Amino acid sequence: MTHYDIQSIRNDFPILKSTVNGKPLVYLDNGATTQKPQVVIDAIAHYYTAQNSNIHRGVHHLSQVATDAYELTRTKLKPFINAEHEHEIILTKGTTDGINIVAQCYGKAFIHKGDEVIISAMEHHSNIVPWQIVCEERGATLKVIPMDEDGNLDLSAYKKMLNEKVKIVSITYVSNSLGTVNPVKEMIDLAHERNIPVLLDAAQAVQHIPIDVQALDVDFLAFSGHKMYGPTGIGVLYGKEKWLNTMPPYQGGGDMIKTVTFEKTVYNQLPFKFEAGTPNIEAGICLANAIDYIQTIGLDNIARYENELLEYATRALLEIPGLKIYGTAKVKSSVISFLIEGTHPYDVGTILDKLGIAVRTGHHCTQPVMDFYGIPGTIRASIALYNSKEDIDTLVEGIKRAVSMLL
Ligand code: PMP
Repeated sequence: MTHYDIQSIRNDFPILKSTVNGKPLVYLDNGATTQKPQVVIDAIAHYYTAQNSNIHRGVHHLSQVATDAYELTRTKLKPFINAEHEHEIILTKGTTDGINIVAQCYGKAFIHKGDEVIISAMEHHSNIVPWQIVCEERGATLKVIPMDEDGNLDLSAYKKMLNEKVKIVSITYVSNSLGTVNPVKEMIDLAHERNIPVLLDAAQAVQHIPIDVQALDVDFLAFSGHKMYGPTGIGVLYGKEKWLNTMPPYQGGGDMIKTVTFEKTVYNQLPFKFEAGTPNIEAGICLANAIDYIQTIGLDNIARYENELLEYATRALLEIPGLKIYGTAKVKSSVISFLIEGTHPYDVGTILDKLGIAVRTGHHCTQPVMDFYGIPGTIRASIALYNSKEDIDTLVEGIKRAVSMLL
């Protein structure tokens, strides 16, 4: 395996030293949320110890300190995703919030009766329901790119779906239930041939794959801080300036205004137009520490290491009799969904928990994917930068034990 100081990385995450049911914790539910390194935990304590104040409002010292720290995150995000402008970065509550902002605000301006919105068969509910709401409100139709048994999107069907009625394409970069890495650059280029903007749900991508929004030429990109070793309650919506400037806000309140009278309100400039109300300040500030942490290791190193671990885990799991992996696309990221013949995923998950192993069981907020395969759910192991080969070995042993108890 490539040189990668896994032990030193694991030491950065205090929770990995804990035990569950008397066993050392093996945390493989990283698709749901990641654990936090000590630098992020310390930064949260530091915020409340030395910086706590509301932002963008006061002239007093603490308000300036908090505002500067909060805005530093935006400054760090710009090169992290290679945005052209800092004001194209809107700080949100998370991926769900970001997608809802685009659905509502872009929808109000650009989606009309008879129009179409394209999503894919493998979307998380948070990239389905906001579009269903908008389509219902605006009299538009939701179209779904189909996928094959391996979990690859059908690109020829996608090409045929692109027409002048389509007002936006909103797809996931990496599937949270199958692990598929979609060919997003090709899909963006195809949409742009018809001047259709594209939103990428990068919730499962940004912590695994270096992202360059200008190289991708993507119009909108949403992701969550808590899935990239940062705090909960903060996320990022990148949008091209040309779109953000032409979209009305959908939430009104403090911070998003320039002037207010009872007759008329003038909205604030970007990005504040889309940031109504007091945000999650400490999470916004400490997201910068998570970005620094990721960059210290390097996303290229992380991707290489995680891909090796994914291959190792896939091989080891497939040796278990009766185990079937759902999601066998050629290009995958750190997710393995599986079922074991004759067992229910909840039963296996419960036994694994008794052994200190945290995996996800259920539909993973992708019910249409489960319907596609005709299954109630899967067991999902999802890998992060701190997982080790030993974690995978323990998982495999745990599954074997669960199977011997259940069958
Ligand atoms: N999209 C994908 C692909 C996800 O995996 C998730 C989280 N599981 C979300 C969107 C929603 O993210 P959040 O709950 O942080 O808003």
